[in-house]
Amino acid sequence: MDRQPTSRALIEMEEQYGARNYHPLDVVIERGEGVWVYDVEGRKYLDCLAAYSAVNQGHCHPRIMEAAVGQLKRVTLTSRAFRNDQLPRFYRLLHELTGYDLSLPMNSGAEAVETAVKAARKWSYAVKGIPADQAEIVVCANNFHGRTVTIVSFSTEPQYREGFGPLTPGFTVVPFGDAAALESAVTPNTAAFLVEPIQGEAGIVIPPDGYLRQAAAICKAHNVLFVCDEIQSGLGRTGRLFAHEWEGVRPDMVVIGKALSGGYYPVSAVLGSREVLGVFRPGDHGSTFGGNPLACAVARAALQVLIDEQLAARSAELGAYFLGRLQALQSAVIKEVRGRGLWIGIELTCPARPYCERLMQEGMLCKETHDRVIRLAPPLTITRDEIDWALERLQKVLC
Ligand SMILES: *Cc1c(COP(=O)(O)O)cnc(C)c1O
Repeated sequence: MDRQPTSRALIEMEEQYGARNYHPLDVVIERGEGVWVYDVEGRKYLDCLAAYSAVNQGHCHPRIMEAAVGQLKRVTLTSRAFRNDQLPRFYRLLHELTGYDLSLPMNSGAEAVETAVKAARKWSYAVKGIPADQAEIVVCANNFHGRTVTIVSFSTEPQYREGFGPLTPGFTVVPFGDAAALESAVTPNTAAFLVEPIQGEAGIVIPPDGYLRQAAAICKAHNVLFVCDEIQSGLGRTGRLFAHEWEGVRPDMVVIGKALSGGYYPVSAVLGSREVLGVFRPGDHGSTFGGNPLACAVARAALQVLIDEQLAARSAELGAYFLGRLQALQSAVIKEVRGRGLWIGIELTCPARPYCERLMQEGMLCKETHDRVIRLAPPLTITRDEIDWALERLQKVLC
Protein backbone atom coordinates (compact mmCIF):
# COMPACT_ATOMS: atom_id res chain seq x y z
CA MET A 1 0.00 0.00 0.00
CA ASP A 2 1.11 3.58 -0.70
CA ARG A 3 2.24 5.36 2.44
CA GLN A 4 0.35 8.60 2.88
CA PRO A 5 2.73 11.57 2.42
CA THR A 6 2.65 14.34 5.04
CA SER A 7 0.43 17.40 4.65
CA ARG A 8 3.52 19.45 3.84
CA ALA A 9 4.58 17.09 1.05
CA LEU A 10 1.06 17.03 -0.40
CA ILE A 11 0.83 20.82 -0.36
CA GLU A 12 4.15 21.04 -2.21
CA MET A 13 2.96 18.48 -4.76
CA GLU A 14 -0.23 20.45 -5.33
CA GLU A 15 1.65 23.72 -5.76
CA GLN A 16 4.10 22.12 -8.17
CA TYR A 17 1.64 20.45 -10.53
CA GLY A 18 -1.64 22.34 -10.18
CA ALA A 19 -2.87 25.57 -11.72
CA ARG A 20 -3.10 28.15 -8.95
CA ASN A 21 -6.69 29.23 -9.31
CA TYR A 22 -7.36 28.91 -5.54
CA HIS A 23 -5.67 30.04 -2.34
CA PRO A 24 -6.76 27.34 0.11
CA LEU A 25 -6.03 27.15 3.80
CA ASP A 26 -3.16 24.72 4.33
CA VAL A 27 -5.20 21.87 5.73
CA VAL A 28 -5.09 18.60 3.81
CA ILE A 29 -8.30 16.71 4.45
CA GLU A 30 -8.26 12.97 4.18
CA ARG A 31 -11.59 11.95 5.66
CA GLY A 32 -14.91 13.44 6.73
CA GLU A 33 -17.81 12.31 8.82
CA GLY A 34 -20.82 14.50 9.62
CA VAL A 35 -19.61 17.94 10.64
CA TRP A 36 -16.03 16.78 11.25
CA VAL A 37 -13.10 16.38 8.87
CA TYR A 38 -9.67 14.88 9.54
CA ASP A 39 -6.33 15.82 8.01
CA VAL A 40 -3.64 13.35 6.96
CA GLU A 41 -1.95 13.66 10.38
CA GLY A 42 -5.23 12.72 12.03
CA ARG A 43 -6.06 16.20 13.38
CA LYS A 44 -9.79 16.83 13.66
CA TYR A 45 -11.61 19.98 12.51
CA LEU A 46 -15.18 21.24 12.66
CA ASP A 47 -16.13 22.10 9.08
CA CYS A 48 -17.84 25.49 9.17
CA LEU A 49 -17.90 25.97 5.41
CA ALA A 50 -19.49 22.68 4.31
CA ALA A 51 -18.02 23.09 0.82
CA TYR A 52 -19.91 26.36 0.30
CA SER A 53 -23.14 24.63 1.42
CA ALA A 54 -22.75 21.58 -0.81
CA VAL A 55 -22.51 19.40 2.28
CA ASN A 56 -25.63 20.57 4.13
CA GLN A 57 -26.37 16.92 4.98
CA GLY A 58 -22.91 16.43 6.57
CA HIS A 59 -19.89 14.62 5.15
CA CYS A 60 -20.36 11.08 3.86
CA HIS A 61 -23.96 10.82 4.99
CA PRO A 62 -24.64 7.07 5.28
CA ARG A 63 -27.99 7.13 3.49
CA ILE A 64 -26.60 9.03 0.52
CA MET A 65 -23.59 6.69 0.56
CA GLU A 66 -25.88 3.67 0.38
CA ALA A 67 -27.74 5.12 -2.60
CA ALA A 68 -24.46 6.07 -4.30
CA VAL A 69 -22.79 2.70 -3.79
CA GLY A 70 -25.92 0.82 -4.82
CA GLN A 71 -26.18 2.82 -8.02
CA LEU A 72 -22.41 2.58 -8.68
CA LYS A 73 -22.84 -1.17 -8.87
CA ARG A 74 -25.78 -1.02 -11.27
CA VAL A 75 -25.19 1.64 -13.92
CA THR A 76 -23.62 5.09 -13.72
CA LEU A 77 -23.96 6.72 -17.12
CA THR A 78 -26.29 6.07 -20.00
CA SER A 79 -26.23 9.53 -21.58
CA ARG A 80 -29.53 11.08 -22.50
CA ALA A 81 -29.39 9.25 -25.83
CA PHE A 82 -31.17 6.55 -23.85
CA ARG A 83 -33.49 6.73 -20.87
CA ASN A 84 -32.59 5.48 -17.41
CA ASP A 85 -34.72 4.30 -14.51
CA GLN A 86 -33.49 6.98 -12.04
CA LEU A 87 -34.13 10.23 -13.92
CA PRO A 88 -37.95 10.06 -13.93
CA ARG A 89 -37.94 9.41 -10.17
CA PHE A 90 -35.63 12.39 -9.63
CA TYR A 91 -37.92 14.62 -11.72
CA ARG A 92 -40.96 13.48 -9.80
CA LEU A 93 -39.33 14.08 -6.41
CA LEU A 94 -38.29 17.60 -7.43
CA HIS A 95 -41.84 18.28 -8.57
CA GLU A 96 -43.39 16.90 -5.37
CA LEU A 97 -40.96 18.80 -3.18
CA THR A 98 -41.10 22.17 -4.93
CA GLY A 99 -44.32 22.22 -6.95
CA TYR A 100 -42.52 23.23 -10.14
CA ASP A 101 -43.89 21.62 -13.32
CA LEU A 102 -40.56 20.74 -14.89
CA SER A 103 -36.88 20.53 -14.16
CA LEU A 104 -33.73 20.29 -16.25
CA PRO A 105 -30.72 18.50 -14.75
CA MET A 106 -27.12 19.61 -15.22
CA ASN A 107 -23.91 19.06 -13.25
CA SER A 108 -22.23 22.19 -11.90
CA GLY A 109 -24.01 25.24 -10.59
CA ALA A 110 -22.56 27.41 -13.34
CA GLU A 111 -24.02 25.10 -15.97
CA ALA A 112 -27.43 25.37 -14.38
CA VAL A 113 -27.17 29.18 -14.34
CA GLU A 114 -26.20 29.07 -18.03
CA THR A 115 -29.23 26.85 -18.60
CA ALA A 116 -31.50 29.39 -16.89
CA VAL A 117 -29.99 32.18 -19.02
CA LYS A 118 -30.62 30.16 -22.19
CA ALA A 119 -34.17 29.31 -21.11
CA ALA A 120 -34.91 32.97 -20.31
CA ARG A 121 -33.54 34.14 -23.64
CA LYS A 122 -35.41 31.51 -25.64
CA TRP A 123 -38.65 32.19 -23.72
CA SER A 124 -38.27 35.90 -24.37
CA TYR A 125 -38.07 35.36 -28.14
CA ALA A 126 -40.56 32.51 -28.45
CA VAL A 127 -43.18 33.61 -25.92
CA LYS A 128 -42.67 37.26 -25.01
CA GLY A 129 -41.83 38.29 -28.57
CA ILE A 130 -38.60 40.22 -28.04
CA PRO A 131 -36.82 40.83 -31.39
CA ALA A 132 -34.04 38.31 -32.17
CA ASP A 133 -30.83 38.73 -30.18
CA GLN A 134 -32.14 41.76 -28.27
CA ALA A 135 -32.92 40.08 -24.93
CA GLU A 136 -31.55 41.71 -21.81
CA ILE A 137 -31.17 40.11 -18.41
CA VAL A 138 -30.97 42.26 -15.29
CA VAL A 139 -28.58 41.10 -12.56
CA CYS A 140 -27.32 42.58 -9.28
CA ALA A 141 -24.05 44.20 -8.33
CA ASN A 142 -21.78 41.94 -6.28
CA ASN A 143 -23.52 38.85 -7.61
CA PHE A 144 -21.93 35.45 -7.73
CA HIS A 145 -23.38 33.02 -10.25
CA GLY A 146 -20.32 31.01 -11.33
CA ARG A 147 -17.28 31.22 -13.56
CA THR A 148 -18.13 30.60 -17.21
CA VAL A 149 -17.35 33.33 -19.73
CA THR A 150 -21.01 34.37 -19.95
CA ILE A 151 -21.46 34.41 -16.19
CA VAL A 152 -18.31 36.41 -15.49
CA SER A 153 -19.50 38.81 -18.19
CA PHE A 154 -22.11 40.05 -15.73
CA SER A 155 -19.97 39.85 -12.60
CA THR A 156 -19.00 43.16 -11.01
CA GLU A 157 -15.81 41.68 -9.55
CA PRO A 158 -12.99 43.01 -11.77
CA GLN A 159 -10.74 39.98 -11.12
CA TYR A 160 -13.40 37.58 -12.41
CA ARG A 161 -13.61 39.45 -15.74
CA GLU A 162 -10.21 40.94 -16.47
CA GLY A 163 -8.23 38.97 -18.99
CA PHE A 164 -11.20 36.85 -20.06
CA GLY A 165 -12.77 39.01 -22.75
CA PRO A 166 -14.43 39.36 -25.15
CA LEU A 167 -17.36 39.12 -22.78
CA THR A 168 -20.98 38.16 -23.49
CA PRO A 169 -23.33 41.13 -24.00
CA GLY A 170 -26.98 41.37 -22.91
CA PHE A 171 -26.76 41.99 -19.17
CA THR A 172 -27.65 45.05 -17.10
CA VAL A 173 -26.40 45.48 -13.54
CA VAL A 174 -28.45 47.15 -10.79
CA PRO A 175 -27.66 47.56 -7.08
CA PHE A 176 -28.76 44.62 -4.92
CA GLY A 177 -31.67 45.37 -2.61
CA ASP A 178 -32.93 48.36 -4.62
CA ALA A 179 -36.31 47.61 -6.20
CA ALA A 180 -36.61 51.08 -7.76
CA ALA A 181 -33.33 50.54 -9.60
CA LEU A 182 -34.66 47.26 -10.95
CA GLU A 183 -37.84 48.94 -12.15
CA SER A 184 -35.89 51.65 -13.99
CA ALA A 185 -33.60 49.08 -15.59
CA VAL A 186 -36.49 47.16 -17.15
CA THR A 187 -37.05 47.85 -20.85
CA PRO A 188 -39.37 46.24 -23.40
CA ASN A 189 -36.46 43.88 -24.18
CA THR A 190 -35.96 42.64 -20.62
CA ALA A 191 -36.28 38.87 -20.48
CA ALA A 192 -35.41 38.14 -16.87
CA PHE A 193 -34.17 39.34 -13.52
CA LEU A 194 -31.59 36.95 -12.03
CA VAL A 195 -30.90 37.32 -8.31
CA GLU A 196 -29.52 35.51 -5.28
CA PRO A 197 -32.16 35.90 -2.51
CA ILE A 198 -29.25 36.42 -0.12
CA GLN A 199 -25.83 37.15 -1.59
CA GLY A 200 -23.45 34.50 -0.27
CA GLU A 201 -20.07 35.18 -1.83
CA ALA A 202 -20.61 38.93 -1.36
CA GLY A 203 -20.58 38.25 2.40
CA ILE A 204 -24.03 36.96 3.43
CA VAL A 205 -25.75 40.15 2.33
CA ILE A 206 -29.45 40.12 3.23
CA PRO A 207 -31.61 42.53 1.19
CA PRO A 208 -34.13 44.85 2.89
CA ASP A 209 -37.44 43.25 3.90
CA GLY A 210 -39.88 43.25 1.03
CA TYR A 211 -37.22 43.47 -1.68
CA LEU A 212 -37.92 40.09 -3.24
CA ARG A 213 -41.66 40.72 -3.06
CA GLN A 214 -41.26 44.05 -4.83
CA ALA A 215 -38.88 42.53 -7.38
CA ALA A 216 -41.33 39.71 -8.11
CA ALA A 217 -44.16 42.22 -8.55
CA ILE A 218 -42.08 44.38 -10.91
CA CYS A 219 -41.20 41.30 -12.96
CA LYS A 220 -44.82 40.25 -13.14
CA ALA A 221 -46.00 43.71 -14.17
CA HIS A 222 -43.49 43.84 -17.03
CA ASN A 223 -43.71 40.20 -18.13
CA VAL A 224 -40.12 39.60 -17.03
CA LEU A 225 -39.04 36.24 -15.62
CA PHE A 226 -38.08 36.31 -11.94
CA VAL A 227 -35.19 33.89 -11.53
CA CYS A 228 -33.61 32.98 -8.18
CA ASP A 229 -30.15 31.47 -7.92
CA GLU A 230 -30.61 29.24 -4.86
CA ILE A 231 -27.46 27.21 -5.47
CA GLN A 232 -25.98 28.28 -2.13
CA SER A 233 -29.00 29.73 -0.29
CA GLY A 234 -31.35 26.86 -1.11
CA LEU A 235 -31.99 23.37 0.19
CA GLY A 236 -32.36 24.27 3.83
CA ARG A 237 -29.42 26.59 4.34
CA THR A 238 -31.43 29.63 5.50
CA GLY A 239 -34.00 27.71 7.53
CA ARG A 240 -36.46 27.16 4.70
CA LEU A 241 -36.21 24.87 1.69
CA PHE A 242 -35.53 28.01 -0.38
CA ALA A 243 -34.43 31.43 0.84
CA HIS A 244 -37.07 33.13 -1.35
CA GLU A 245 -39.77 31.49 0.77
CA TRP A 246 -38.98 33.98 3.54
CA GLU A 247 -40.81 36.55 1.40
CA GLY A 248 -43.53 34.25 0.12
CA VAL A 249 -42.57 34.78 -3.53
CA ARG A 250 -42.71 32.24 -6.32
CA PRO A 251 -39.89 32.65 -8.88
CA ASP A 252 -40.48 31.63 -12.48
CA MET A 253 -37.24 29.65 -12.34
CA VAL A 254 -35.10 28.43 -9.47
CA VAL A 255 -31.51 27.30 -9.93
CA ILE A 256 -30.20 24.66 -7.52
CA GLY A 257 -26.95 22.75 -7.13
CA LYS A 258 -24.42 22.20 -4.35
CA ALA A 259 -26.41 20.40 -1.58
CA LEU A 260 -28.58 18.76 -4.22
CA SER A 261 -26.08 15.89 -4.01
CA GLY A 262 -25.02 16.30 -0.39
CA GLY A 263 -21.51 16.81 -1.70
CA TYR A 264 -21.15 13.40 -3.32
CA TYR A 265 -21.15 14.41 -6.89
CA PRO A 266 -21.84 17.52 -8.99
CA VAL A 267 -25.59 17.70 -9.54
CA SER A 268 -27.52 20.85 -10.45
CA ALA A 269 -30.89 21.64 -11.93
CA VAL A 270 -33.19 24.39 -13.09
CA LEU A 271 -36.79 24.26 -11.88
CA GLY A 272 -39.50 26.10 -13.75
CA SER A 273 -42.96 26.24 -15.18
CA ARG A 274 -44.02 24.38 -18.29
CA GLU A 275 -44.33 27.74 -20.08
CA VAL A 276 -40.66 28.55 -19.48
CA LEU A 277 -38.74 25.27 -19.48
CA GLY A 278 -41.12 24.00 -22.14
CA VAL A 279 -39.32 26.22 -24.66
CA PHE A 280 -36.52 23.67 -25.02
CA ARG A 281 -36.80 21.31 -27.98
CA PRO A 282 -34.62 18.20 -28.44
CA GLY A 283 -31.16 19.38 -29.46
CA ASP A 284 -31.48 22.90 -28.00
CA HIS A 285 -29.41 22.13 -24.93
CA GLY A 286 -27.81 19.20 -23.17
CA SER A 287 -25.03 17.60 -21.20
CA THR A 288 -23.42 14.18 -21.43
CA PHE A 289 -23.50 13.70 -17.67
CA GLY A 290 -26.63 15.76 -16.87
CA GLY A 291 -29.39 13.53 -15.50
CA ASN A 292 -27.19 10.45 -15.31
CA PRO A 293 -28.44 7.61 -13.10
CA LEU A 294 -25.71 7.96 -10.47
CA ALA A 295 -26.41 11.68 -10.10
CA CYS A 296 -30.16 11.08 -9.90
CA ALA A 297 -29.86 8.32 -7.30
CA VAL A 298 -27.51 10.44 -5.19
CA ALA A 299 -29.67 13.56 -5.50
CA ARG A 300 -32.84 11.72 -4.54
CA ALA A 301 -31.17 10.38 -1.41
CA ALA A 302 -29.72 13.81 -0.62
CA LEU A 303 -33.16 15.42 -0.90
CA GLN A 304 -34.74 12.64 1.13
CA VAL A 305 -32.23 13.27 3.93
CA LEU A 306 -33.12 16.99 3.91
CA ILE A 307 -36.78 16.07 4.29
CA ASP A 308 -36.53 13.20 6.76
CA GLU A 309 -34.04 14.92 9.05
CA GLN A 310 -35.96 18.20 8.79
CA LEU A 311 -32.73 20.01 8.11
CA ALA A 312 -34.38 23.30 7.13
CA ALA A 313 -36.19 23.54 10.48
CA ARG A 314 -32.98 22.57 12.23
CA SER A 315 -31.13 25.31 10.39
CA ALA A 316 -33.74 27.88 11.45
CA GLU A 317 -33.62 26.89 15.11
CA LEU A 318 -29.89 26.36 15.55
CA GLY A 319 -29.06 29.29 13.28
CA ALA A 320 -31.09 31.65 15.48
CA TYR A 321 -29.24 30.34 18.52
CA PHE A 322 -25.79 30.65 16.89
CA LEU A 323 -26.54 34.15 15.57
CA GLY A 324 -27.82 35.35 18.92
CA ARG A 325 -24.74 34.11 20.75
CA LEU A 326 -22.42 35.64 18.13
CA GLN A 327 -24.18 38.99 18.24
CA ALA A 328 -23.57 39.07 21.99
CA LEU A 329 -19.78 38.70 21.58
CA GLN A 330 -17.79 41.75 22.64
CA SER A 331 -14.96 42.20 20.17
CA ALA A 332 -13.01 45.16 18.84
CA VAL A 333 -12.60 43.52 15.43
CA ILE A 334 -16.25 42.58 14.79
CA LYS A 335 -18.15 45.18 12.79
CA GLU A 336 -21.39 43.24 12.29
CA VAL A 337 -22.79 39.74 12.61
CA ARG A 338 -25.69 38.88 10.29
CA GLY A 339 -27.30 35.77 8.97
CA ARG A 340 -30.33 33.66 8.34
CA GLY A 341 -30.50 30.08 9.49
CA LEU A 342 -27.11 28.44 9.74
CA TRP A 343 -25.68 30.92 7.26
CA ILE A 344 -23.86 33.62 9.15
CA GLY A 345 -21.40 36.31 8.15
CA ILE A 346 -19.10 37.87 10.72
CA GLU A 347 -17.93 41.13 9.17
CA LEU A 348 -14.65 42.33 10.63
CA THR A 349 -13.02 45.75 10.62
CA CYS A 350 -9.91 44.17 9.05
CA PRO A 351 -9.00 41.28 6.69
CA ALA A 352 -10.55 37.99 7.80
CA ARG A 353 -7.92 35.61 6.44
CA PRO A 354 -5.57 35.71 9.49
CA TYR A 355 -8.54 34.92 11.74
CA CYS A 356 -9.47 31.96 9.55
CA GLU A 357 -5.87 30.73 9.88
CA ARG A 358 -6.05 31.03 13.66
CA LEU A 359 -9.43 29.30 13.79
CA MET A 360 -7.90 26.47 11.78
CA GLN A 361 -5.21 26.13 14.44
CA GLU A 362 -8.04 25.87 16.98
CA GLY A 363 -9.67 23.07 14.99
CA MET A 364 -12.32 25.02 13.12
CA LEU A 365 -12.43 25.48 9.36
CA CYS A 366 -13.89 28.70 7.97
CA LYS A 367 -13.05 30.65 4.84
CA GLU A 368 -13.03 34.38 4.40
CA THR A 369 -15.26 35.81 1.73
CA HIS A 370 -14.79 39.23 0.24
CA ASP A 371 -11.81 39.98 2.39
CA ARG A 372 -13.43 41.01 5.64
CA VAL A 373 -16.20 38.49 6.21
CA ILE A 374 -15.90 35.13 7.96
CA ARG A 375 -18.68 32.94 6.62
CA LEU A 376 -20.10 30.32 8.96
CA ALA A 377 -22.04 27.63 7.11
CA PRO A 378 -21.62 24.31 8.91
CA PRO A 379 -23.47 21.18 7.84
CA LEU A 380 -27.10 21.52 8.95
CA THR A 381 -26.68 18.35 11.00
CA ILE A 382 -24.56 20.25 13.54
CA THR A 383 -25.68 19.94 17.18
CA ARG A 384 -26.10 22.66 19.78
CA ASP A 385 -23.10 21.27 21.68
CA GLU A 386 -20.98 21.52 18.56
CA ILE A 387 -22.12 25.13 18.09
CA ASP A 388 -21.08 25.83 21.68
CA TRP A 389 -17.73 24.25 20.91
CA ALA A 390 -17.37 26.56 17.90
CA LEU A 391 -18.41 29.59 19.95
CA GLU A 392 -15.60 28.94 22.43
CA ARG A 393 -13.06 28.94 19.59
CA LEU A 394 -14.55 32.02 17.97
CA GLN A 395 -14.50 33.86 21.27
CA LYS A 396 -10.88 32.90 21.86
CA VAL A 397 -9.76 34.06 18.40
CA LEU A 398 -11.95 37.15 17.93
CA CYS A 399 -12.24 38.61 21.42
C1 LIG B 1 -21.41 28.05 -6.05
C2 LIG B 1 -22.38 28.95 -6.73
C3 LIG B 1 -22.55 28.93 -8.11
C4 LIG B 1 -21.68 28.11 -9.03
O1 LIG B 1 -21.74 26.75 -8.75
P1 LIG B 1 -20.54 25.81 -9.29
O2 LIG B 1 -21.01 24.42 -8.95
O3 LIG B 1 -19.32 26.21 -8.54
O4 LIG B 1 -20.41 26.03 -10.74
C5 LIG B 1 -23.53 29.74 -8.66
N1 LIG B 1 -24.30 30.53 -7.88
C6 LIG B 1 -24.17 30.59 -6.54
C7 LIG B 1 -25.06 31.46 -5.74
C8 LIG B 1 -23.20 29.81 -5.92
O5 LIG B 1 -23.04 29.88 -4.60
